[in-house]
Amino acid sequence: MSKTTKDKIKEMVLSKAPPDAAITQVEFEGPRLALYTKNPRFLFEGQDFTSELARTVRKRVVVRTSPTARTDKKIAENTIKSIIPKEAGLSAITFDPSLGEVSLVVNMPAVLESGEGVLLKKIVEETGWRPSISRTPPMESKILVHISQLLDMRYEERSKILRDVGERIFRNPVVATDSVLLTPLGGACQVGRSCFQVTTNESRILIDCGINPGISDPRFSYPRLDLDTFDLNSLDAVVVSHAHLDHCGFVPFLFKHGYRGPVYCSEPTLPLMTLLLFDIFEVSSRSGTTTPYEQKDVREMILHTIPLRYGAVTDISPDVKLTLHNAGHILGSSIVHLHIGEGLHNLVYTGDYKYSRTALLEPSVNVFPRVETLVTESTYSGIEDTMPPRAEVELRLIEICNRTLKRGGKVLIPSLAVGRAQEIMLVLDSYMRKGELVEAPIFVDGMILDVTAIHSAYPEYLSRELRNLILVEAINPFKSEYITPIKSSSARSETIRGGPSIIIATSGMLEGGPVLGYFKSIAPDEKSTTVFVNYQIEGTLGRRILNGLREVSMFTDNGKVEIVKVAGEIEKVEGFSGHSDRNQLTSYVRRVFTRKGKIVIVHGERSKSSSFASYLGRIYPGRVSLPQLGETIRLT
Ligand code: ZN
Repeated sequence: MSKTTKDKIKEMVLSKAPPDAAITQVEFEGPRLALYTKNPRFLFEGQDFTSELARTVRKRVVVRTSPTARTDKKIAENTIKSIIPKEAGLSAITFDPSLGEVSLVVNMPAVLESGEGVLLKKIVEETGWRPSISRTPPMESKILVHISQLLDMRYEERSKILRDVGERIFRNPVVATDSVLLTPLGGACQVGRSCFQVTTNESRILIDCGINPGISDPRFSYPRLDLDTFDLNSLDAVVVSHAHLDHCGFVPFLFKHGYRGPVYCSEPTLPLMTLLLFDIFEVSSRSGTTTPYEQKDVREMILHTIPLRYGAVTDISPDVKLTLHNAGHILGSSIVHLHIGEGLHNLVYTGDYKYSRTALLEPSVNVFPRVETLVTESTYSGIEDTMPPRAEVELRLIEICNRTLKRGGKVLIPSLAVGRAQEIMLVLDSYMRKGELVEAPIFVDGMILDVTAIHSAYPEYLSRELRNLILVEAINPFKSEYITPIKSSSARSETIRGGPSIIIATSGMLEGGPVLGYFKSIAPDEKSTTVFVNYQIEGTLGRRILNGLREVSMFTDNGKVEIVKVAGEIEKVEGFSGHSDRNQLTSYVRRVFTRKGKIVIVHGERSKSSSFASYLGRIYPGRVSLPQLGETIRLT
């Protein structure tokens, strides 16, 4: 059915719809088919028809009310307030006229959903607006508010974008698909600037579009979009696996240069990457550097982003269906599954993944209907990369903290804002609670605070345990008496002057952010310890210090250069990584790969990736490839 034209679908809908459907319009809305009706009751009474239709056209179908069937926003708001019982705890109502939806944020969603949704039906009947329910986030997130305001303000543009995307997805394919090519434009034999182009006879998809944070030379820091194999104008879709800058940091550049197609990612990835991308401008204004794109390009990206839930199969072009699955790496991180050409080929791109449980997330998903090509990361694929068991790793960090705090020093933990910081917060808090870690204030500085709020807003994406705490017991695991957020420069100076403490601050590789201020004051103190808990990309200050650099030139607040002597301890605790080690990578490949297609090794330093490739090559002779930057490999 994927070759059915829009007109044919329209005709079919109109001829098969029951009389009370009162369909006024059939539209493509991004990857979905949207039916507009004059009869609000059809939203719930027409469910049999829409599920049957979804099965026939093999697309997701959504029913919306026609604009004429909706009451005025002000009147609707009052009606809704009178319908919703007090105990539901309504905290916000926003209308999305492009979709005819009213978003209701409540403390107790269960109150509205009980009794087969009688209250929700009443809202539809009396207002003509379709309610979508979400829970009041336990922590306020400025970025979530910012995104919804932007979508609200520019809703007409947004609905046009969704219609255009839909038209493009469901265009008539020119020829049947019989070839699939993969070209790394970045992230081949290196960690950083991940960017992979998948080309079929009909479509061109970009998976990830990141930067290389350790390098300033644009030839090495950005994906090679200048290569002949790449063509921005024929790009159908961009898929972002997760919100780390080495995977998403270059997406707005595509918009700067005229891309107006969709960006697909998981629901939490949108606010997380928005936060990271806007931060780039703050960092650059502080350091006086230029950025490869502007804030308006980031906003354009937001308008074009279509967030997806894990497991939702979505058409993204005439011959490609996309499904995202949990990757266990950071909140919202996704393993990307592409089903290409009606059963021709299935490609799994792991992005960064963790094939074991962490305090924060469930392990990466390892079951797919079919896999012919497995594109796997290989960050920790070296023969020496064995991560100790999680409990051992935690004890090592606790031991370092105890030792430092007992001698009156401060512990500085540079951390990536997303993922690692929340993991470390949970670990430190639980050991302090158990009395196994010396009681001391834990200060958290930088973007970590906003990111933590986003974590608490998407409990469905967290580990089962955390999800239960938030949803069932209404406890926010990220709020603790031991943890103090630092929100001002005076609080920052006080922390530096104060007694023993643990400070978690961004950025994770000492490449900017408040951590630098702490490092300048803390590293010269020999009682102190700086502990690295995440991977340090080659070229970053963090990596150079780990490699033994003990005198660091840094800028003072008034722009002069000063030499900072590193006299305190430098430690590295590796097992907190959100990546899989060599054993985990190998078991993942063994579990997922079916011996029939290809394993493609990416996202690793050359020496590690090639050692891993030859190791796998002995298990799967002739099946493993290690592509170079810009090299196109034929998958089928
Ligand atoms: Zn990552």
